[in-house]
Amino acid sequence: MDYDKSIKIILDENEMPKSFYNILPDLPARLDPPLDPRTNEPVKGADLEAIFAKELVRQEMSGESVIAIPGEVREALLRMGRPSPLMRARRLEEKLKTPARIYFKHEGLNPCGSHKPNTAIAQAFYNMKEGTEALATETGAGQWGTALSYACMLFDMKCEVFMVKSSYEQKPYRKMMMHAYGATVHASPSSITEYGRKVLAASPGHPGTLGVAISEAIEMVVSDNSGKTKYSLGSVLNHVMLHQTVIGQEVRTQLAKADEKADYVIGCVGGGSNFAGISFPLIHDRLRGKNDTRFIAVEPDSCPSLTKGEYRYDHGDTAGMTPLLKMHTMGKDFIPSPIHAGGLRYHGMAPTVSLLASRGIVEPRAYNQNEVFEAGIMFARSEGIIPAPESSHAIKAAIDIALDCKKSGEQKTIVFNLSGHGLLDLAGFEQYLEGKMR
Ligand SMILES: *Cc1c(COP(=O)(O)O)cnc(C)c1O
Repeated sequence: MDYDKSIKIILDENEMPKSFYNILPDLPARLDPPLDPRTNEPVKGADLEAIFAKELVRQEMSGESVIAIPGEVREALLRMGRPSPLMRARRLEEKLKTPARIYFKHEGLNPCGSHKPNTAIAQAFYNMKEGTEALATETGAGQWGTALSYACMLFDMKCEVFMVKSSYEQKPYRKMMMHAYGATVHASPSSITEYGRKVLAASPGHPGTLGVAISEAIEMVVSDNSGKTKYSLGSVLNHVMLHQTVIGQEVRTQLAKADEKADYVIGCVGGGSNFAGISFPLIHDRLRGKNDTRFIAVEPDSCPSLTKGEYRYDHGDTAGMTPLLKMHTMGKDFIPSPIHAGGLRYHGMAPTVSLLASRGIVEPRAYNQNEVFEAGIMFARSEGIIPAPESSHAIKAAIDIALDCKKSGEQKTIVFNLSGHGLLDLAGFEQYLEGKMR
């Protein structure tokens, strides 16, 4: 195969990774443990098992470097479209007149349209195995809710989604996808939980935040005494990062096929999972001196947890029900402005990504919404793919680096994660094109 001219590097089904890569034992320092908010003592696994499946709690704290992917999970990942292609953005390179080679991992081709089913499938499977009958969760713009609804459909479980009210009203189509997969969707703050009622009483027009929706989903889980309802989170936690490493392991195989070495690996960061997914396997290699790749994490400047947040213990939710996590955070009460990249509007950052950023191994950048949409449109008008506004952050960084290469004449290899398509985010593109974006 002549990869000098190829447009996409594809893998056979049997080349899909057989295990998840766990970065915990390779981190430059031990992660500070999650703390119980009532006692400030490290949380015990048994306490977490009240809301999460046992196997997921085990993975959250595991010291094993690799964790085998169960056969049923592999089959489901194959069915939803893995392995995903690594595409060469030749038309974008030509448009930029850059000597750099730009590749992107296309995670938007599956039925849900983002990277999120990679962990949704694993989480639903382990829960089903342990007898869980329903999963409760939160969702912002709806990508995570869609992925978990899809995964619960596959394993015959109920799915209860608390969707941030502003998205519930402005973005009805992902809600409809969740309904189509059989899930129940509640606008959050809702009147079906005590915390939701409290928020509504204090502020009847509250637009909702991820922090509030998480509190509501957890309340639903802890108030079901049967123990058959569990909670599921789409980012931030170690086990979510773990499941997403199928992305980077595939990229490593794909780059090797094309005889390429990445100089830059780029991902957008909300809670950190798609970035962790594409970068952790290659960070594993860098920590062993096998590459000198730079890892760029891109966030919106309106929710700049990595570039401007403090690195300290904070709650994952607004009510303060979740354990305290050591992470880069804007503070649990931070309400980010309603940008179109809803998946990046979270006050905190994964503890693993936060630690790597504090050590300089991950390099954060922030961009504003207008320059991000400009990059997204340039991508649509060269590669023909309308990207998610979240992914457009990664595209913007890739374009900037490619333009630096044009100045310096360097032939760098740039790889970014296209975490999802933007076909349900068209209103944002329309606003940008009409010059109405702030
Ligand atoms: C949810 C989402 C993100 C942000 O979440 P991470 O956990 O940081 O990956 C990014 N892109 C898309 C398309 C998403 O759906």
